[in-house]
Amino acid sequence: MTYPSTQLFIAGEWQDAADGRTLAVFNPSTGKEIGRVAHAGTKDLDRALEAAQKGFEVWRDMPAIERAKTMRRAAALMRERAGEIAAILTQENGKPLAEAKVEAMASADIIEWFADEGMRVYGRIVPSRNLAVRQLVVKDPVGPVAAFTPWNFPINQVVRKLSAALASGCSMLVKAPEETPASPAALIKAFADAGVPAGVVGLVYGNPAEISNYLIPHPIIRKVTFTGSTPVGKMLAALAGQHMKRVTMELGGHAPVIVCEDADIQLAVKAAGAAKFRNAGQVCISPTRFLVHSSVQKEFAETMAAYARGLKVGDGLTEGTTMGPLANPRRLTAMAEFTEDAVKQGAKLLVGGERIGDAGNFWQPTILNDVPLSAKVFNDEPFGPMAAIRAFDKIEDAITEANRLSFGLAGYAFTRSLKNAHILSQRVEVGMLWVNQPATPSAELPFGGIKDSGYGSEGGPEAMEAYLNTRAVSITNV
Ligand code: NAD
Repeated sequence: MTYPSTQLFIAGEWQDAADGRTLAVFNPSTGKEIGRVAHAGTKDLDRALEAAQKGFEVWRDMPAIERAKTMRRAAALMRERAGEIAAILTQENGKPLAEAKVEAMASADIIEWFADEGMRVYGRIVPSRNLAVRQLVVKDPVGPVAAFTPWNFPINQVVRKLSAALASGCSMLVKAPEETPASPAALIKAFADAGVPAGVVGLVYGNPAEISNYLIPHPIIRKVTFTGSTPVGKMLAALAGQHMKRVTMELGGHAPVIVCEDADIQLAVKAAGAAKFRNAGQVCISPTRFLVHSSVQKEFAETMAAYARGLKVGDGLTEGTTMGPLANPRRLTAMAEFTEDAVKQGAKLLVGGERIGDAGNFWQPTILNDVPLSAKVFNDEPFGPMAAIRAFDKIEDAITEANRLSFGLAGYAFTRSLKNAHILSQRVEVGMLWVNQPATPSAELPFGGIKDSGYGSEGGPEAMEAYLNTRAVSITNV
């Protein structure tokens, strides 16, 4: 299976870093180096910034319908190339090929939804207090955007940002993940091949802190968007604040799953179990704190354990694999720490809890029951294939626990009671709540968190607002 090395994309050209520096890329299933990625320096960033400014001036002035047509061509290319892009994504990230293909195909839907939405960026006419005056509200693109995206969904994390920005008329310079560089590069290539003018889209890799410290304060950059951990997000938001830059932050989560006494347990396990182990749990909306009514705890825990035992862990390229390795060795160390700490504090390990083999970053799907609130897994984001279960007796207690942490990204609930569904929808402090169903983060729905999980949205019309300035214009007829 071939894997391409990745270059920078600056001013419409694929190129090496000016000083020729590169970084190694590893396959998490084997631990072996599979390719290299160019490492940008200041010279490269300066050229990319200048190109982003020029690209913005061209793209901003292109009619929305023409921008939409170009974006639709990019979507069609992603669909056409989804098979080969998925193979690249699996090699660098580890996720099963089927999941990688879904990610590549879904990017086309996201691009198309935003392409259409870009044709509906309306202003308004506001009746004035004087007949001679016409009052207008206009929406304009904010300008060149700097985007920082992580390795867990290397295509999806870029395409949500890029599609909303381009549909709004902005240009975007993407700092994509060095650990999984080739699949986001394939996405950028689809836009380039679709005819997006030079500079409208740029792509760089390198040292994340150096690049963010350079781009965020830079006067050309007018907006910053980041997906990643809460500590890094807070640092970047603070830097952006010092320079008065618009910001969207998609940060960590610690999703509660409330399973009520009247829940359909089979449905709860099927929906939350699939969500838990998707991408080996390295998902910001991954269900994590399973709060289960004490009357159904035994049944739920046993069914979840059976679900976890039924997963086939292996190389994502191997037919039949349902869970791949963790994306990097850091996550293996984290999983061992979470498990050891929970067991030491009295949690019962129902399944898993150990590394598989010694090549690649494979970790057993892990289910912990009767987990105390003080356990690390009930407080810090595990970001791995680990479900922690504990019982509750009153729904108010489950809600209090759901809201205890500073995170507020996603939540799940299972109940047949309209009353419970109602209370949960009002009281659970999350940006996205799914009741009796798996997560459906479609392009048309807002996607984002509250509290320490960030602010801003990457779905629905709200995602476009993040890339638009709203201005008032008042014209007097003299
Ligand atoms: P990390 O905090 O080191 O990095 C998270 C992401 O931020 C990476 O993509 C990294 O390249 C980037 N980053 C780090 N420092 C940066 C800086 N100064 N400027 C710009 N970008 C920077 O953690 P990690 O070990 O890579 O990932 C583990 C944790 O990150 C998880 O526990 C999870 O909380 C979080 N994470 C969240 C998401 C998400 O979808 N919200 C995705 C990936 C990682």
